[in-house]
Amino acid sequence: MRSDVLIIGGGPTGLVLALWLTKLGVKVRIIDKTAEPSTTSRALAVQARTLELYRQLDLADAVVEQGHRVPAVNLWVKGEPATRLPFETIGSDLTPYAFLQIFPQDQHERLLIERLEALGVSVERRSELVGFTDEGDGVTARLRGPEGREDSCEMRYIAGCDGARSLVRETIGTGFPGGTYRQIFYVADVEAAGPALMSTWMRPISWRSFPSPGRVARGSSGPCATSVPTAPTHSGSRTSAIGQSITSRSRSKG
Ligand SMILES: Cc1cc2nc3c(=O)[nH]c(=O)nc-3n(C[C@H](O)[C@H](O)[C@H](O)COP(=O)(O)OP(=O)(O)OC[C@H]3O[C@@H](n4cnc5c(N)ncnc54)[C@H](O)[C@@H]3O)c2cc1C
Repeated sequence: MRSDVLIIGGGPTGLVLALWLTKLGVKVRIIDKTAEPSTTSRALAVQARTLELYRQLDLADAVVEQGHRVPAVNLWVKGEPATRLPFETIGSDLTPYAFLQIFPQDQHERLLIERLEALGVSVERRSELVGFTDEGDGVTARLRGPEGREDSCEMRYIAGCDGARSLVRETIGTGFPGGTYRQIFYVADVEAAGPALMSTWMRPISWRSFPSPGRVARGSSGPCATSVPTAPTHSGSRTSAIGQSITSRSRSKG
């Protein structure tokens, strides 16, 4: 049967769209070319506006319960604490979520997948969009399945939630203008102990750490100087995700 919407990409954008449309009674199909959901923290800061949106999906409480609440950010200048930015007092009359919520992207995606499955929709994995044609009253897409075979399918709409190198965006020619920062950023999920978690200066770069629920900390080094005010202490040290330089496009960092 023809679906109303074929969602390309089972990252956070595709998953939330699928949840929302399904709750509205729209028949969706969601595919992703990867075999498994992601495993690293990546976009781990969930902002108040996202939680307000999630409240309408009955998701906000779970994100708050499973994540780590950050009430303030400490700013450092040349190795000395300079000031503290308290979210609680800034946003208390604006939102019920006047804090920064740390919820690693992989855990976040797992929660979204669970909620979607509870509504009877599963992400079809190892299923890749290889092209599509706009037929006017619908779309015909070519999909490559887990066995490598190509099939075509029809739907009323196609939703491009296929990330930074989106084939959907490329096909419809919308572009994704942006630039590249001169600086190099490294991001890693690490288990570490001691004051390094709070703020360490490794001149000429700085270190920013985010305690993460269930995995200790995600560190980000680059030209920034922030630390969140609470840090769990654990012994041992293990890098659970490789450091990676980030090319910034036209989006704000969370
Ligand atoms: C190392 C790293 C650190 C990051 N840190 C932060 C951060 O601190 N804060 C922040 O806000 N953001 C951060 N980001 C960015 C954040 O992860 C992305 O903005 C977010 O994942 C975008 O979600 P999305 O669902 O739009 O796309 P994605 O998460 O990229 O998901 C797109 C999905 O589409 C699938 N796909 C692509 N093409 C096809 C196709 N042809 N057919 C089928 N499936 C396809 C992919 O497999 C993928 O699963 C980071 C990213 C990286 C890599």
